[in-house]
Amino acid sequence: MNAAAFSAGSLQVGTVDVVIVGAGHSGLAMSHCLGRRGIDHVVLERGEVANAWRHERWDSLRLLTPNWLTRLPGMAYDGDDPDGYMRRDEVAAFIARYARTSGAPVRTGTTVRAVMADDAGYRVDTDRGRWRCRAVVLASGAFARPSVPRIGASLPGGVAQLTPYQYRNPGQVEAGGVLVVGASATGLQLADELQRAGHPVTLAIGEHVRMPRMYRGRDIQWWMHAAGLLDQRYDALDDLSRARGVASPQLIGSRERAIMDLNALSAGGARLVGRVANVRDGQVQFSGALRNVCALADLKMARLLATIDTWAATHIDDGSLPPAERFDATRLPEKKILGLNLKREGIRTVIWATGFRPDYSWLKLPVLDAKGNIRHNGGVADAPGLYVMGLPFLRRRKSSFIHGAEDDAQDLAGHLAGYLDALSRPGPSRACPASGTRSRSRHGALEADRAVRPRCD
Ligand SMILES: Cc1cc2nc3c(=O)[nH]c(=O)nc-3n(C[C@H](O)[C@H](O)[C@H](O)COP(=O)(O)OP(=O)(O)OC[C@H]3O[C@@H](n4cnc5c(N)ncnc54)[C@H](O)[C@@H]3O)c2cc1C
Repeated sequence: MNAAAFSAGSLQVGTVDVVIVGAGHSGLAMSHCLGRRGIDHVVLERGEVANAWRHERWDSLRLLTPNWLTRLPGMAYDGDDPDGYMRRDEVAAFIARYARTSGAPVRTGTTVRAVMADDAGYRVDTDRGRWRCRAVVLASGAFARPSVPRIGASLPGGVAQLTPYQYRNPGQVEAGGVLVVGASATGLQLADELQRAGHPVTLAIGEHVRMPRMYRGRDIQWWMHAAGLLDQRYDALDDLSRARGVASPQLIGSRERAIMDLNALSAGGARLVGRVANVRDGQVQFSGALRNVCALADLKMARLLATIDTWAATHIDDGSLPPAERFDATRLPEKKILGLNLKREGIRTVIWATGFRPDYSWLKLPVLDAKGNIRHNGGVADAPGLYVMGLPFLRRRKSSFIHGAEDDAQDLAGHLAGYLDALSRPGPSRACPASGTRSRSRHGALEADRAVRPRCD
């Protein structure tokens, strides 16, 4: 079936085999792979290409993944600073160049308002008309909205509250103390920036992932990549839902390649407290489990480094490799802080670095679980012809990173091609999205792997 464009003024805009929602790197990687297979598709984007990097990231943000790792199907980083970390505007430019060079059929300024099943497959309603298609790829972002706990509503009036998407730079934050809630990559980076700008910072810490920026002379991401840890597959894990909920690592991409951890922050003056448990009468209460949480993060880091050492011993025959290193345990104050009165402490701003979540409010299909997460098996969603990209551990540990889209898009484009082929064949193998029945298997994973075709780069 070929795209048939209709008058933009009429309700129906076009018919196409596949609609991709979102022109971030995930949607564009999928577009590239479908294009290489000759599959007719369109990419609908509510803003601009790479919208999140242009409009939803703070000013100083740099990737925590090194440039040499930044690659998409058909295009790899080719600049002169492979060991550096791109600024957010450089990421946006990289993705925009990718869209241009791969000739992605992107319709910008087109917000998808509803996706629903119809006789032929799916109907996609946008603010600029309706598309009909046989398959849909959801690439609208795993980190579309900041998640803010409900207790935020109980904070005393007069305390400013910001999410990482509202925060741009320290100039926006009133003089005085700041409580940063959350100690993953975002929380640590914002706490560090605010502390350097002269704000007394209190950091509320839940479960986190600690790792050094450099290890034995190489970037930690080099080790994880080389040892295959980033390629670990979703269907090889015992506890997938836990793995999918793991926070981003405490890393910062800086020229100095500095370690960004709780020790570095507290050495700069930050006060470390447990996770926010409650707010009562202007008093924020913190969990008493901070010591345990930090001990667990230290232990997991030691395990990661031991895994790397074991791998290095068998794979690197290089006498010049520096010896194994171990890092100080997280240093915590003797006295636990279990509550703080924000006013009395001069804390004028709270930043909720408490994670992000997708937004599928426009998805009119019965594919969401009780928590609002999409039910899928390695990106093959629980409705025929529906796919998802870019979610944490979608198919591999690296799935939510830019370079993770490459393998995932290859795999899922293969599955999707097989799905469209099956639809074109007459007979009982035909799948019907509206009825929710799948022709060959409801479990996409095995099917996806059988359907994987030659690489599209
Ligand atoms: C703070 C932060 C730092 C990160 N740092 C790194 C890093 O260092 N390295 C790394 O590899 N990854 C990093 N990531 C993870 C990941 O690479 C980014 O989140 C990336 O933006 C995800 O790309 P995506 O294409 O999956 O989604 P997005 O970039 O979010 O793109 C989704 C697109 O869909 C559009 N859209 C959404 N809803 C609709 C709709 N209804 N209709 C039409 N269009 C819609 C959006 O406008 C957006 O352009 C980071 C993420 C965050 C949040």
